[in-house]
Amino acid sequence: MITTTNNAVNLPEIVVATLRTICGDRYVITDTDILYGYGKDETLDLHFPFDILVKPGTAEEIAGILQLCNEHRIPVTPRGGGSGVTGGALPVERGIVLSLERLNKIVGINTVDHCVTVESGVVTADLCAAVQEAGLCFPVPPSSAAYSFVGGNVAENAGSISSCKYGTTRQYVLNLQVVLPTGEIIWTGANVMKNSTGFNLTQLFTGSEGVLGIITQVVYRLIPAPKHQLSLLAGFEKLEDACAAIVAIKQSGILPAAVELICRNAMEVAAAFLAEPLPLVTDQINAHVLLNLEERSENRLMEAMEEAGAILEKYTGENILTATTTKEKEQLWKLRFNIGAALTSGAKKYRDIDIAVPLSVLYPYIRQVEAICAAHGVTVACFGHALDGNLHTMLQFNAQADAAEEKRVAQVVAEIYDFALANGGVISGEHGIGLLQRPFMSKQFPAAQLALMKDIKTLFDPNGILNPGKVVL
Ligand SMILES: Cc1cc2nc3c(=O)[nH]c(=O)nc-3n(C[C@H](O)[C@H](O)[C@H](O)COP(=O)(O)OP(=O)(O)OC[C@H]3O[C@@H](n4cnc5c(N)ncnc54)[C@H](O)[C@@H]3O)c2cc1C
Repeated sequence: MITTTNNAVNLPEIVVATLRTICGDRYVITDTDILYGYGKDETLDLHFPFDILVKPGTAEEIAGILQLCNEHRIPVTPRGGGSGVTGGALPVERGIVLSLERLNKIVGINTVDHCVTVESGVVTADLCAAVQEAGLCFPVPPSSAAYSFVGGNVAENAGSISSCKYGTTRQYVLNLQVVLPTGEIIWTGANVMKNSTGFNLTQLFTGSEGVLGIITQVVYRLIPAPKHQLSLLAGFEKLEDACAAIVAIKQSGILPAAVELICRNAMEVAAAFLAEPLPLVTDQINAHVLLNLEERSENRLMEAMEEAGAILEKYTGENILTATTTKEKEQLWKLRFNIGAALTSGAKKYRDIDIAVPLSVLYPYIRQVEAICAAHGVTVACFGHALDGNLHTMLQFNAQADAAEEKRVAQVVAEIYDFALANGGVISGEHGIGLLQRPFMSKQFPAAQLALMKDIKTLFDPNGILNPGKVVL
């Protein structure tokens, strides 16, 4: 476990007393056992100690906390479900961790306007279940939906396996209630489908990773629930054919609700971890492509299935399976959904590089990654949201890595970013910058753009109290 020692922020007694007045004694926590769990998220094995955990229950309480902390220059780190993998919720400068977990109400679902108003501490899966009950759908939950919060998803502009059809969180955010670091409470937009009024603050806060303000309510646009769904799994002898099939699917105009690629290296790790017979896992198969199709009518679904099936068949022959029942789908997706667990089993950990590249660069990207990793002796597993060009490139290394191994992995990360950026890609397709990827911002952005981002941060947060040390410095 990595524990950093930072300059302690000596919280004045008046601050602690005022926090208790604002939130109530129960919700101002100093018990170090409880604090420990809030000093980490899902990023490697990083842990940061801090001074006080607060669990406010309303936007007004958050406004009071931020005014107080702004006056006393105390760092505040907003925290949702703590499922982030780039260290965004880590309290790197101690101070206060502000958990949104008590803001957990679904305020209202509007079935005429097709939108939902939700507090930012609602668990993503709870939101999905509630809108589904109303016949509607929030189509882009991240795979961490069981524990991530709505506010965390907005703060990260989270992606989903279904982003290739429906877009990312960004495309669904209509309006946000935000508490600014100086304590004002604002709504950023309006609950309308079209809005050309002024600067788009809603989109500025979406993906702002908790450095510009604390999101307290979210208004999401919803879609009618798709009624008919099925999954297809195709196994390929050659990775090149799998990538060509994905390009052909894109060119066909079929819009699958998921197109996932699993390369041989990821397949092997997950198959060994599961240690059971799995569909289309054989010595001859070197890549899987998984498709979800969903449509409003059975006829359209069948049409899409035939078209997608014909394309896959052209590249792989008979190695195609179809699943229509929940049980069958679970079986087809089992390998994919166990890759993460497989990569952390035993004494291993991983660094997830979540670059996105243009689809035309996907195949050369994977080959380049293999070459870089082989040159440095680093084990890699590649899988993910192929149609988006957003591939999880997982570098596996020992939990107790020595300095030489850490150095090799760091070198591989830098070389992979260089290749992705030189070929029109970006550092992060969905996980954000946070703490972990911040050193690479200057690889992607020229000085003028970085300076603009820093100026925007200062405009919203003149004293730099909100989530310091993240995204931009
Ligand atoms: C197993 C697993 C699967 C995952 N799958 C996906 C996936 O499919 N797609 C994807 O995009 N990501 C995925 N992630 C990463 C992570 O789940 C997402 O980034 C998620 O959106 C984070 O939400 P959270 O509530 O846990 O946020 P946290 O980790 O608590 O915080 C993330 C960032 O948001 C800020 N923040 C949180 N709440 C607020 C708020 N209310 N106001 C302002 N700032 C706030 C924090 O300060 C921090 O910077 C996965 C992670 C794991 C461990």
